[in-house]
Amino acid sequence: MTFVIASPCIDEKAADCVETCPVDAIHEGEDQYYIDPDACIDCGACEAVCPVAAIFQEDFLPDEEKSYLDKNRDFFKK
Ligand code: SF4
Repeated sequence: MTFVIASPCIDEKAADCVETCPVDAIHEGEDQYYIDPDACIDCGACEAVCPVAAIFQEDFLPDEEKSYLDKNRDFFKK
């Protein structure tokens, strides 16, 4: 289980989540921030502070945002 940053973050990058994450699981990408699924402890703190509601628990990603699960995972494989 992990939290995932989806499309509302694109070009928004408010970054409130970065300071909030207790395990530094959120990293900056070119167009959005990403959550490292191996580091995330599923606490939900980031979801609560995101001003554009871009963060979802994996199981609650809307269908149109499901591709962001792989996009977040793939960012950390590079
Ligand atoms: S759910 Fe918690 S541990 Fe996971 S990315 Fe968000 S703040 Fe960090």
